[in-house]
Amino acid sequence: MQFTTSIFNLLLNSLSPSRCLLCKMLLDGDLSLANSNNDHTIICIHCQLSFPEIETSCSRCNTPLNTHSELCGICLKQERYWQQCTPAFSYSSSIADLILLLKHQNNNKLTEYFAQTIIEAIDEYQIESCDFLIPVPMHPKRFAKRGFNQSLQLTKALSLITGIPYINIFKKNEETPQQASLSKKQRETALKNNFHLKQRFLSILNNKRLVLIDDVVTTGATTSELARTLKIAKAKRVDVWCIART
Ligand SMILES: [Zn+2]
Ligand SMILES: [Zn+2]
Repeated sequence: MQFTTSIFNLLLNSLSPSRCLLCKMLLDGDLSLANSNNDHTIICIHCQLSFPEIETSCSRCNTPLNTHSELCGICLKQERYWQQCTPAFSYSSSIADLILLLKHQNNNKLTEYFAQTIIEAIDEYQIESCDFLIPVPMHPKRFAKRGFNQSLQLTKALSLITGIPYINIFKKNEETPQQASLSKKQRETALKNNFHLKQRFLSILNNKRLVLIDDVVTTGATTSELARTLKIAKAKRVDVWCIART
């Protein structure tokens, strides 16, 4: 019930663009934003400041760590096919609410906001050296139901800001079981060969530096399988940029 109310409030709030999407405060009345040049502000400065900083995390995949080791257990074993995963935010209930809103409606301003925050989290070198952005695919059935893929929308926004071209290169073959209910081994088997590349793009991947774009990276199993497929197609390097990492 609480969950439904939360979604309802977020959708209601989004109908009024002059209010903060999270706390409903009138953005015009927020003095701290009076001098801001950002016409696309949709989250008030108070809510933005309340987003938790990214704490100690794995230097490669940015999984939050409880210890001060440099790499998490999975990265220590080199089991990922992408090189580095960079999130814009640490996962929190506020960020989760916003991502849920992103998934429920094709909100351009929210998409642009997240794209901008991802850019702020990325090293300039990573942006300059990237050849193509690639969205994580959505199953056609889910796409037909929802009408859009939030990862593709995010990729388009990132492409506009950075000037890096994007290619919507993956075809997803079958419905993937909910990953949370599967063991690690079952997840790997379920994902194996689940993604195929559109043939017409194959020749342009050779020796390219690619970045996969996703909203939330949880286990990293899906992005790792996508990266494996891109590596088979001779990509030089694959990284991941996302809104949040859990
Ligand atoms: Zn707010
Ligand atoms: Zn790691």
